[in-house]
Amino acid sequence: MEVMAKKALITGILGQDGPYLAKHLLNKGYKVFGLIRRYSNPTFDNLDFLGITREVEYVQGDMSDEASLYSVVKMLQPAEVYNLAAQSFVGASWDQAKLTTEVNAIGVLYLLNAIKFFSPATKFYQASTSEMFGLGNTNGRQDENTNFHPRSPYGVSKVYAYWMTVNFRESYNIFTANGILFNHESPIRGIQFVTRKITDGVARIKLGLAKDLRLGNLKSRRDWGFAGDYVEAMHLMLQQDKGDDFVVGTGENHSVEEFVSLAFEHIGIKDWQKYIVTDPRFIRPAEVPDLKANPQKAKKILGWEPKTSFKDLVADMVEADLKRLKK
Ligand code: NAP
Ligand code: GDP
Repeated sequence: MEVMAKKALITGILGQDGPYLAKHLLNKGYKVFGLIRRYSNPTFDNLDFLGITREVEYVQGDMSDEASLYSVVKMLQPAEVYNLAAQSFVGASWDQAKLTTEVNAIGVLYLLNAIKFFSPATKFYQASTSEMFGLGNTNGRQDENTNFHPRSPYGVSKVYAYWMTVNFRESYNIFTANGILFNHESPIRGIQFVTRKITDGVARIKLGLAKDLRLGNLKSRRDWGFAGDYVEAMHLMLQQDKGDDFVVGTGENHSVEEFVSLAFEHIGIKDWQKYIVTDPRFIRPAEVPDLKANPQKAKKILGWEPKTSFKDLVADMVEADLKRLKK
């Protein structure tokens, strides 16, 4: 008798993490469904980058449209739902605070309700974030017990979603997990995020397509890892005996300035300072100055550890942007 493949539904399939997770699950034999919104011109570039556009099946829905989520969950009855959809850019969240809240917070309530009403055996993963910690730390790091002190409407919206995810576990016995992921990057990271903005800018300067790179605060520090490593932790969280919450990061951090200098070094430029223009448009109303994970729980319980070094991550991203721009 043929064994039915496990069904996984991924929201945010067209973003950065969606394609990496889809590829990981396809390799494990899952049937992968991706939720996409209605578009005039959908773009599958990130799935194309990983060569899996045709291996995913697409279903339509929007995180701000409750009924669309009910229909999809009812129809699929997936074994696992990975909620990666979000207005994920901190910088835009001050200008679009309501939209950010509707998608990132209330949208999660809709999706959890869809599971509760129509598919209570589904396991649910919520894309939580180190931005929830904001100013909070425990001896200079953040772990599962560190207090939340979000600094942006994005961070605030994710705190709501985090607690709703915990609450559905405690109230209805639904298997839910929060992955509190620290910043993770890749060649398909959104172009507005500082890492990709830097690697794209550096590649443009190398190819004579730009003269300078305009940035905001160079002093903030982030715990940057590779997205391809982090999706493995998402999957592992849903394979445990019970739902739980995990911090996922590398345990080391670097300043934006260090990222810039390494990216320029990769193309053979040492005096990078002369290419950087500080632009007040990219300074935020409130900053998160310093994030550094303590990922011991993920290591101990999930057996998860990052594989990609900071230096390799920067080099891979610069190389990918050089290749793309040369085309
Ligand atoms: P991303 O590249 O911005 O992708 C987010 C996806 O969500 C996009 O494909 C977007 O679809 C979709 N989306 C936005 N609004 C939607 C709506 N109303 N209905 C349905 N889909 C919608 O984000 P990512 O970097 O892959 O991150 C994945 C998740 O992890 C996000 O929830 C993010 O907040 C969280 N997270 C990310 C990081 C990180 O460092 N990357 C760290 C911690 C947590 P369109 O293509 O239609 O715009
Ligand atoms: P975040 O950690 O989710 O906000 O990820 P980002 O990549 O957007 O920002 C990381 C850090 O880089 C933040 O502290 C930003 O203030 C800082 N930063 C400095 N210049 C820029 C810039 O030009 N764009 C972005 N996106 N961030 C910048």
